[in-house]
Amino acid sequence: MKSTVAKIYLDNFRENLYFIRSKMNKNTKMCVAIKADAYGHGAIECAKVAEECGVEYLAIARVSEGVQLRRAGIGADLLLLSLCDPSEMDELVQNRITPLVFDSEYVDLVANAAKKAGVQNYAVHLAVDTGMGRIGCYPEDAGKLAKKIVSDGLFFGGICTHFSVSDSKNEDDVLYTKNQFARFLSAIENVRRAGIEPGIRHCAASAPTLFCPEMHLDMCRPGIVCYGYYPGDFTGDDLKPVMSLITKVSAIRRIKAGESISYGRTWTAKKDTNVAVLPVGYADGLLRRHAGIFVSIDGKSYPICGRICMDQCMVDIGDDKIERWNEAVIFGPKESGAILSAKEIADGAGTIPYEITCAVSKRVARVFV
Ligand SMILES: *Cc1c(COP(=O)(O)O)cnc(C)c1O
Repeated sequence: MKSTVAKIYLDNFRENLYFIRSKMNKNTKMCVAIKADAYGHGAIECAKVAEECGVEYLAIARVSEGVQLRRAGIGADLLLLSLCDPSEMDELVQNRITPLVFDSEYVDLVANAAKKAGVQNYAVHLAVDTGMGRIGCYPEDAGKLAKKIVSDGLFFGGICTHFSVSDSKNEDDVLYTKNQFARFLSAIENVRRAGIEPGIRHCAASAPTLFCPEMHLDMCRPGIVCYGYYPGDFTGDDLKPVMSLITKVSAIRRIKAGESISYGRTWTAKKDTNVAVLPVGYADGLLRRHAGIFVSIDGKSYPICGRICMDQCMVDIGDDKIERWNEAVIFGPKESGAILSAKEIADGAGTIPYEITCAVSKRVARVFV
């Protein structure tokens, strides 16, 4: 094993998918968010497992992510959650990626690319902005846009929206989500009134997938729960983290009282101690703001002392007997030997587990177990 790797527990991913599916209606489709290299876990391997589990759709954010999946032989429907550049439209169509659309100019771009490729009834989904303020048409314009989609020769494959606070248990937030849902239903009505079948209706990301069955409609789009973390305010113990970040002690140094460690000299030894050097740093995704977290060596936790460098960091191991080249686990599921999960590291740094796993950089090999 190389010194620093991200171990990916694909069985945990599979079990999470089965658990999520068990919370969904029989006829509701599942669209697993596999964007950003499956939140850092490795898109191709996760997509293969998702396909084995019968997942119908995979959600991506870039055309290049779709191309990578198609090249790897992934046949599932691919839903593009963000807008692509006009120059990417031909690639989008050639790779059978279903785009979200919501304005005439963009509908024209897709329609022209489909014509050029000689594809009829190319499927698109209409995005509706019900309060996220990101992409989507206003609910009152949904009927008009639906007509435009169909008259341009495209297939109206579905309609969707995205919630901005569905992972919150705050009373106002719960009400806000209910209002977003009501606005979404009104957009669907507008499409029907325009004489067009709304197709696959979907709005639920992780939190409503697990906790609001009335919002499942025809498809759910879970992301973070697939990778083992509860969204926002929610907790539970059914999900299993999928990634662990593991490194090895590359040296052990004797440090005398009064000597300082790392850049900026923010840490000084109060007494004589031993310091383990770990070949993991912010260029691997262990960001500087995580200085001070505890890492696990031989099942015991030790604090990172001083600043995290680009490629290395140091850990105060006191007088404990630790062998050079022993594993040190930064985060992961219990079975990885970790003491912290990505969720706990995120909480400590005022961020979310999504950012912790996405930050693990490309030079860290993913090892699938
Ligand atoms: C990323 C994303 C999801 C999945 O979100 P999670 O919070 O990870 O469940 C669903 N829908 C859209 C539009 C997204 O961008």
